[in-house]
Amino acid sequence: MSPTVLHIAPHPDDEALGSPGALLHLVDRGWRVVSVIASLGFPSQWERRRAEAEEAARRAHFVPLFFDPPLDLSLRDDLAHAAARVEGALPGLMAAYDVAVVVSPSPHDVHHGHEAVARGVQRALASLPAPTPVRWWMWGIWGDLPAPNVFFPFGEKDAARLLHILEAYEGELERNDYRRLLTGRASANAALGSERVFGFGTPRASALPYAEVLTEVRRVGHRWMASRAHLLDEGPLPDERFDVDLTAWLDAPSVRQLVGPIREVLDENAG
Ligand SMILES: [Zn+2]
Repeated sequence: MSPTVLHIAPHPDDEALGSPGALLHLVDRGWRVVSVIASLGFPSQWERRRAEAEEAARRAHFVPLFFDPPLDLSLRDDLAHAAARVEGALPGLMAAYDVAVVVSPSPHDVHHGHEAVARGVQRALASLPAPTPVRWWMWGIWGDLPAPNVFFPFGEKDAARLLHILEAYEGELERNDYRRLLTGRASANAALGSERVFGFGTPRASALPYAEVLTEVRRVGHRWMASRAHLLDEGPLPDERFDVDLTAWLDAPSVRQLVGPIREVLDENAG
């Protein structure tokens, strides 16, 4: 059985934007990527957005799964209930697919729907019997990661593949052309990501034009421990020393939990 990574996307298209380069890299190495789509927008959009997500998964060679019924992630919805549904569903999915890595936004990703899903993931992983070898990879879209420790550089050919996957989301791209986000963010990560991961002042880790960064943690005892900074490409995910304690960050309330909604509009289309 090939190793399995489970990605959970708060919205259809987050799997094509969060860390798609890393996921595709694992597919290329024979991994199975189970892509869970948590919500589908308004009921009137369900059919279109599900079809787009299925087409994106076909292009990426991901195994698509959908929450049924989809999570309600708009501001008016019960976000605690949404988080609880993620927390409830994850252990069964992880057992069914023998998951080695779970990928999601961080619980500090600013967008209310992303944070709700991430808190569900966090609670599910925290409740696994310790010690667990399962790793949690977090990406940042709306809120940048303060402590990334995985760097994945990539070139034009991979960027073209990622754009092709994202372009399955025709309806969403009409609203906002996230293709610019995909390449722009990856360019920014190529410029800043290496120092963000390996330390300020360190030499560039790669000359490639694009990159993704992730925060990788594992539950050790009652702590969230991050692995040493490394390239995703360094072999088949060696069992790194997990010696950086990120518990205080992960367990801390997010900015929107601290001060309340700042600029959210009551429109679930956002994000
Ligand atoms: Zn989203």
